[in-house]
Amino acid sequence: MDPKTRQTVTVDKDVLNKAKKVCEDKHIPLSGAIENFLNFFSNPWVYCFKCSEKFNVGEAELCPKCGWLKCPKCGICRCGLDETTAIAVYHMRKVYEDLLSGRVK
Ligand SMILES: [Zn+2]
Ligand SMILES: [Zn+2]
Repeated sequence: MDPKTRQTVTVDKDVLNKAKKVCEDKHIPLSGAIENFLNFFSNPWVYCFKCSEKFNVGEAELCPKCGWLKCPKCGICRCGLDETTAIAVYHMRKVYEDLLSGRVK
């Protein structure tokens, strides 16, 4: 059986047209882009800012001290960062949270 299903969703016309344009430029099907995003949305992942390990947010632990995700490989969190780096990472995380409509974890 084909695991792909057809699902009708209502999307703002402008948003859809812009997305289609980006897909054309990137030569990817719109359904592929949607699938990719939904995959991320339901099971978000991040890359460790220190060791580059890719890990699922759902499986990562939060540091009780700083409240940030701890990398399962090297164990780094907000505590190991200097102020400037922490601010940069914080704003990267904001992008995730906008995309996920809520906190990363
Ligand atoms: Zn790491
Ligand atoms: Zn910490």
